[in-house]
Amino acid sequence: MMQSLLTAIVTLMLLLSPASAQGLSALARMDPAASVISDDGRGISLRFSLSQPVPWRVRVMASPPRVVLDTREVDWSQIATIPRLTDRVSDLRAGVFRPGWSRLVLELTGPFTVSKAAMNTADGLAEIVVRLDPAEPEAFALQAERPEPADWALPKPADVPKAVVPGQGPVVVVLDPGHGGIDPGAESDGVQEAALTLTFARELKDALQRDGDFLVVMTRDDDVFVPLEARISVARAAGANVLISLHADALAEGEANGATLYTLSDEATDLAAKALAERHDRADLLAGVDLTQQDDLIATVLMDMARAKTAPKVDRLAQSLKAAIKAEGLRMHRHPIQSGGFSVLKSPDIPSILIELGFLSSASDRTRLSDPKWRARMITALRTGLMAWVAEEAVLARREKR
Ligand SMILES: [Zn+2]
Repeated sequence: MMQSLLTAIVTLMLLLSPASAQGLSALARMDPAASVISDDGRGISLRFSLSQPVPWRVRVMASPPRVVLDTREVDWSQIATIPRLTDRVSDLRAGVFRPGWSRLVLELTGPFTVSKAAMNTADGLAEIVVRLDPAEPEAFALQAERPEPADWALPKPADVPKAVVPGQGPVVVVLDPGHGGIDPGAESDGVQEAALTLTFARELKDALQRDGDFLVVMTRDDDVFVPLEARISVARAAGANVLISLHADALAEGEANGATLYTLSDEATDLAAKALAERHDRADLLAGVDLTQQDDLIATVLMDMARAKTAPKVDRLAQSLKAAIKAEGLRMHRHPIQSGGFSVLKSPDIPSILIELGFLSSASDRTRLSDPKWRARMITALRTGLMAWVAEEAVLARREKR
């Protein structure tokens, strides 16, 4: 009986609170002074005090083991300041997961299951209480494998309108501002990668569309989380001629500064490039998405063939952008073109490139990235580089036809 009651509580993924009648437009705040993550030696207890009740749900996920708490419109920005009295929560992050919903992810050092999950309400306030107990791998797997409710899955970006008929009209550029929502990306000295890439993408979009040469579709135009796979789907749905993923990461490995262009390769250029690609996949994973793809052999062969056709186009794109950035007199990394296993570049038939506009770990790059005048010059360079590449590809395509 007890067991089934617990199961019932946990399975009740979405608890509609009495507050739903009052409307949910208000953003609930978490009170850090009245919240705590504690450990009694056996299990871990989470206690989050909120300014109002909200719909919520909690679940565990595997690889790595983590607990995911989804809430409607809660500002978790103070989460890092609450007491964390355990060494069994190895990482913690929070942010917007999808519009209207916030996600809190606590990475755990081992398998735990949710043995209690409740929301207590009094005087208009609410308190979420979650108890996690160490579990056998089987019991953990059982909870972790519970499928997402059908109405919960991230919206499929298939409803992105196909921009133009291929071969006609403007070139379709998909701009992909890196990170967002629960995954803020790098942060240094008050500058956040997710915000910076979005600002840059919006400015670049305006510049590219100004004269009607390009039609731009963005993978996100807000501070929301978009899984890497969904970013690729946006490019596909939009009929993209090219995808440009924009980043400004921090690099602990060696000092890095200056803009760097990354292309897709199984073999990373160096350790830093490898770590960069892995970190992006990991951010996706922690936020709640599993990247494991099950391509069968035939699909893999077909993809390899498509990739073999696309790879030289990407190389020419990298060269063209590099030339334009240098011609504009902007600083580039001493190895300006590098490669790595970046998941967002894995469309077999859409030329895709990842640009580290600079590195937030470098003070001089940070200054440049925050300067609208510097960004305007970089945007001019990227536009020029893209135009040159499009022209070159057109010539090559005509030659191939002959
Ligand atoms: Zn990044």
